[in-house]
Amino acid sequence: MMICKRATELMSQRLDRPLTWKEKVSLRLHLSMCGACKQCNRQFELLHLAGQRLDEERHAQGEDSGSH
Ligand SMILES: [Zn+2]
Repeated sequence: MMICKRATELMSQRLDRPLTWKEKVSLRLHLSMCGACKQCNRQFELLHLAGQRLDEERHAQGEDSGSH
């Protein structure tokens, strides 16, 4: 059974690289049993979405000033 520390690591790594199916399965299994990590996973997802939006905005703004 996966420990919470490992689950949190996977949640964080998932933002940087695709997880292997093994990692996905064990993470999902852990999340289905652990309420604390489920909450944590939600935070990561929100962070990830916020990060994507920031990237898009930065990209849109950078196109004007970066062309010189
Ligand atoms: Zn946990």
